[in-house]
Amino acid sequence: MERIKQHLLDHDVKPSLQRMAVMKYLMDNKTHPTADMIFNELFPSIPTLSKTTVYNTLKLLTDKGAILMIGIDEKNARFDGDTSPHAHFRCKGCGCIYDIPIDVNNTIFVDGIGELTIDEVHVYYKGSCKECAEAHAENDQAKS
Ligand SMILES: [Zn+2]
Ligand SMILES: [Zn+2]
Repeated sequence: MERIKQHLLDHDVKPSLQRMAVMKYLMDNKTHPTADMIFNELFPSIPTLSKTTVYNTLKLLTDKGAILMIGIDEKNARFDGDTSPHAHFRCKGCGCIYDIPIDVNNTIFVDGIGELTIDEVHVYYKGSCKECAEAHAENDQAKS
């Protein structure tokens, strides 16, 4: 919990119990959940929590750079407790989202533009995860 508190303080967020709970959930779960998923998971242990609080907390944490909001899912904003530069993969079959490591430098040089400083990286891959690809292959076999 100390690590979570420090992370919030580092980003200029006052560490209330509910903010810490949301931050901890995002750090512990690499599933890139939606606001509703977070609410449903936390509500049983924090009955005073409201959906509005979760939404407001996620907005605050995103604004302060303590978490990332990712737009890989067209229907719902997804949230990521890992703010280090990495790419994301989303399976079109089951909707699972995985982290993909990428190499990024703090600056890149582009011909004709010059040096650019990178703060955030949003790279999305879409396709089929192993399980969905295998299920698909089985279906195809069954058909022929
Ligand atoms: Zn899948
Ligand atoms: Zn991620």
